[in-house]
Amino acid sequence: MNAGRVIALEGVGKRYGEAQVVRDVHLHLAEGESLALLGHNGAGKTTLIKIMLGLTRPSAGDVRICGRRPWERGFSALRARIGYLPENVMFQDGMTGRELLAFYARLKGLSSPPVPELLERVGLGAAMDRRVRAYSKGMRQRLGLAQAMLGDPVLLLLDEPTTGLDPLLRRQFYELVAERQRGGAGVLLSSHALGEIEARTDRIAIMRAGRLVACGTLAELRRQAGCPTRIRVRAAASAAEEVLASLAGFGEARPIGAGSLEFACRNGTKMELLRRVSALGELIEDVEIVPPTLEDIYDRFSETAEPQ
Ligand code: ADP
Repeated sequence: MNAGRVIALEGVGKRYGEAQVVRDVHLHLAEGESLALLGHNGAGKTTLIKIMLGLTRPSAGDVRICGRRPWERGFSALRARIGYLPENVMFQDGMTGRELLAFYARLKGLSSPPVPELLERVGLGAAMDRRVRAYSKGMRQRLGLAQAMLGDPVLLLLDEPTTGLDPLLRRQFYELVAERQRGGAGVLLSSHALGEIEARTDRIAIMRAGRLVACGTLAELRRQAGCPTRIRVRAAASAAEEVLASLAGFGEARPIGAGSLEFACRNGTKMELLRRVSALGELIEDVEIVPPTLEDIYDRFSETAEPQ
């Protein structure tokens, strides 16, 4: 793929006095690609986003956003093409949603922004002429998202974007983001909502104590993490004892109810177990394969991993 690089971080570090809060981060994002940035509170995610926006300067390393360094002249024009949704959105709440979005559009230098259309897209069509002070937390979050989408952004930096949104609005939010992505925007979002990230981003980066400890597709991280795939086997009613006896002693197994066992398969033992199970034919009533979730992988990397 030769899409351009929207983000290129090379050996980025950030120090506040004695505290080294970001260390030696190498991270790339291509046009049209999405990346989830995960990590415990204090891991350095927001600092990294601020560095990309040019709000704070790194103490070490190099940063290029669409080929430009955030601290060099000319970056402000590019900043108008970066959609940023901060973790805590604060608005002038005496204005209406429509006025506020038009205000942000002027700040970005846009001449004819599609304000009502954007507000419709985030589900604020009916509320656009109400004052923001009457908006719920979820409505403010959606207004923040509309603000980030202004000006056809080439890069979206979204810090905890789905906080306060119900499941339907979350789905609409990801549809909106995917649309921008198809239009070529790079998307970086930080989140704690691992379940929803899992199927919705191309790659996942995990930070721990300022370092990037993992970065790759879910499949790559699964391999690196070495988390077990769980295989649940349920024996046919009359065959429980026979099945349990013939599979007993195979790796890590634990009973999970009458006639059922769960095996934790590591390092290629999965296929061997499946062959053994399938050889038991009709003695087996059901088999369920449960790959490690992003939560399992995240726990592994955020607790124990050495940096990449
Ligand atoms: P995250 O977004 O992953 O929760 P942050 O990037 O906000 O993490 O913070 C990383 C670390 O940097 C934290 O220990 C935080 O206290 C520290 N930090 C962030 N901003 C500053 C600052 N302006 N001055 C000093 N320390 C800071």
